[in-house]
Amino acid sequence: MEREVQRVRQAFRSGRSRPLRFRLQQLEALRRMVQEREKDILAAIGADLCKSEFNAYSQEVITVLGEIDLMLENLPEWITAKPVKKNLLTMLDEAYIQPEPLGVVLIIGAWNYPFVLTIQPLVGAIAAGNAVIIKPSELSENTAKILAKLLPQYLDQDLYVVVNGGVEETTELLKQRFDHILYTGNTAVGKIVMEAAAKHLTPVTLELGGKSPCYIDKDCDLDIVCRRITWGKYMNCGQTCIAPDYILCEASLQNQIVQKIKETVKEFYGENIKESPDYERIINLRHFKRILGLLEGQKIAFGGETDEAMRYIAPTILTDVDPETKVMQEEIFGPVLPIVPVKSVDEAINFINEREKPLALYIFSHNNKVPVGWELIMENIVLILFLINVPVY
Ligand code: NAD
Repeated sequence: MEREVQRVRQAFRSGRSRPLRFRLQQLEALRRMVQEREKDILAAIGADLCKSEFNAYSQEVITVLGEIDLMLENLPEWITAKPVKKNLLTMLDEAYIQPEPLGVVLIIGAWNYPFVLTIQPLVGAIAAGNAVIIKPSELSENTAKILAKLLPQYLDQDLYVVVNGGVEETTELLKQRFDHILYTGNTAVGKIVMEAAAKHLTPVTLELGGKSPCYIDKDCDLDIVCRRITWGKYMNCGQTCIAPDYILCEASLQNQIVQKIKETVKEFYGENIKESPDYERIINLRHFKRILGLLEGQKIAFGGETDEAMRYIAPTILTDVDPETKVMQEEIFGPVLPIVPVKSVDEAINFINEREKPLALYIFSHNNKVPVGWELIMENIVLILFLINVPVY
């Protein structure tokens, strides 16, 4: 591993990743790869997560193409030196800010959107003039293999290198000195990554997980709300970092919510969900069993059917969930939606404040006053969506 990182560092030191023209060429080559090998890429994602071509394209490929176009359009301006205002200390100097590549960047990808979560950071790293070691997730092994095969066919082979493997290989990689580490994955491994980076004072970008709550106010359009929650929760079989993790609402709303989500599930996935080309599978048996364990002792109001051989778990809703039970202690990352009854919006705010920071928070209300209370917790959260008086789509 040490030799591999050294080789990439040598390539960076040659200086060829720096010129604007080279960066644009590499980004164009990456775009060509995505376009020319689209079928292979979609097939690999499909094999990992049992995902239809349409879903794989719309959830992963479009974003990558958009990111590349954004870079191609803006990079010439972004890498230009910008003059800065002078002060007493710099009045005799030429003062400007010049963006510089950092050096060798390590990208550690996750399996839940295995193509976009690895390639999107790569686009940024190439655009910024860096050399890159790419470590796709070993759990999405088909996408990992296709990346190792295709990237060297289109990109500079010394500057951009794919390393495949599991925990052992990643641990070895993390012993090396990098100039930046971009990691996407769970919080526990995020701590391992940050600790390893600290030894070299390497800056990190950690894209982690969390339990993202939905608050449903009694004054809202439940048809719209349930439609949106159904889409966000069961897409990719619940394996989305900002998927609604659980619902907080008054107890009296529970039955209506269950009924409306049930109807929407039928509309989205048909009578036989298992046969639907739009419904994915759990990534592996370990995660399948982990999610099953979260159902123990719960009141299943909808769903709950499973098939171990296919790693299938039906869209599931749990009602009257006790906040002390297992399902409320960790990110669910599967198609299980607990409803925790609360008596008021203030109770919901306290509930969230008492727990770890979520990645996103979804608030559904027609009442303009409801969001005011939520400002109290805004500083804790990356993304808050106020969905007030919204149209159906
Ligand atoms: P994962 O199991 O694929 O792990 C991620 C990476 O960490 C892999 O490349 C793996 O090789 C490496 N790894 C695993 N164990 C390691 C160890 N002990 N030491 C060193 N490296 C190790 O993916 P995951 O963690 O199951 O991913 C799901 C998580 O990622 C969820 O929590 C989800 O919310 C989060 N996520 C966040 C975002 C975001 O943008 N914030 C996006 C997607 C997923």
